[in-house]
Amino acid sequence: MNVSSRKVVCFIGVGSNTGDPVQNCLEALDRLSAGETTEVLRRSSLYRTEPVGIIDQPWFINAVVEVRTTLEAHALLGVLQGIEERMGRVRAGKGGPRVIDLDILLYGERVIRDETLCVPHPEMHRRRFVLVPLMEIAPYVIHPVYGISIRGLLERLSDISTVIPLGAAATGR
Ligand code: ADP
Ligand code: MG
Repeated sequence: MNVSSRKVVCFIGVGSNTGDPVQNCLEALDRLSAGETTEVLRRSSLYRTEPVGIIDQPWFINAVVEVRTTLEAHALLGVLQGIEERMGRVRAGKGGPRVIDLDILLYGERVIRDETLCVPHPEMHRRRFVLVPLMEIAPYVIHPVYGISIRGLLERLSDISTVIPLGAAATGR
């Protein structure tokens, strides 16, 4: 089989909390749609979310997008980091303020754990700002490590941080 022609369905987390976070997320989604190697299948609503971890920073806008890609996982990460760079992201430490953050949440059913890439994303099952948007577009998808659906992970979730959907009017789409 020609591996490069095989397509994998992935879920990507999108987040921003500096500048105009709604516009930043929409721009990132546009860039993913325009990419020759990534086809956007569905996207969640945008959500206004309370910072978790480093709490002394602006609230975030978060979304999740379902993408079909011919790229191998590390190559997909490279494409996402290229979008982050072109949007002016300066790497300022994990969890801090950022113009755009694009994380691979799930790459098909693959489990990858190396120095540059952990998939499924090691925090996704603990984060309300990931699971609520993911629930909107993929409630029945199974987490390949825990064998639990997104709906099930959300039911078991202890994170009580606030996640509020933005109205359609606010997103302009
Ligand atoms: P975070 O999103 O955790 O706040 P960064 O966006 O600054 O942190 O990413 C730091 C590093 O995390 C990246 O250089 C990348 O190699 C690594 N990484 C590991 N797994 C993933 C993943 N699933 N998605 C995105 N980046 C990942
Ligand atoms: Mg990241």
